[in-house]
Amino acid sequence: MADFPLSIPKPGKIGGTFLWAGIINGPVRSRRLGVSLGLNIVPPRSKLCTMDCPYCECGFNTPKTDGARWPSPDLVADALGKTLDGLDARPDWITFAGNGEPTMHPRFPGVVDRVLATRDARAPDARVGILCNGLGAGKPAIREALNRLDARMMKLDPGPPDRVNGVAYDRELLVRNYAGLRDLTVQAMVVEGPGWSGASDEEVAVWLSYLRRIQPSALQIYSLDREPADQAITRVARDRLLEIADRARGAIHGSVEVF
Ligand code: SF4
Repeated sequence: MADFPLSIPKPGKIGGTFLWAGIINGPVRSRRLGVSLGLNIVPPRSKLCTMDCPYCECGFNTPKTDGARWPSPDLVADALGKTLDGLDARPDWITFAGNGEPTMHPRFPGVVDRVLATRDARAPDARVGILCNGLGAGKPAIREALNRLDARMMKLDPGPPDRVNGVAYDRELLVRNYAGLRDLTVQAMVVEGPGWSGASDEEVAVWLSYLRRIQPSALQIYSLDREPADQAITRVARDRLLEIADRARGAIHGSVEVF
């Protein structure tokens, strides 16, 4: 338990990567969520994800640190409750994010239930959301836990999956997984790397073909804002993001925003 400080640490460089230091981060003001308290449920000093995006602000994946454990549902709830009680004002959002993919937690549904109960008791007006890459969302227990949250911000980036997300998954899997989620927001990071561009007409056309089938309630388009894991990854100009957003408005019925 000592591995997880209950204070509100600032993110910092740990072992060469930009990792959150504990379970709770913030409150911080984000471009997409307003005032948000972050929940990191990945074992300490580790970056663990089923993708390995070269643009990730937490750096590339690491091995799980020796001896580090996934925080129990009780420990997460305790850290959240103590933090909420110490704040002058309640946050707008409590967001699962952190050093990797939250649904990898072996007791993810239990963590969700304890976080929702803590929110109900200590900050009933705050909404609980998640930033999730979607690869695990086809498992029934994970899908049902995701659907108990107030918001699901799920990933679908334009570009070849093995380049933009670091793993060669089949995007048909995301289409199937997202069909089981209610009120889905898709978040799309548009970036470029050596020899490929997520902003090219060809890659945007492929991405739109999946978005048409997913039909999210909302689409959020953005580019690099923080230091990427791979320094060769570059941001895409806002004018191009606005052009991509216009094309997306012709493909989905939900709202489309550029951040
Ligand atoms: S899915 Fe998210 S946490 Fe995982 S590597 Fe990509 S940006 Fe980082």
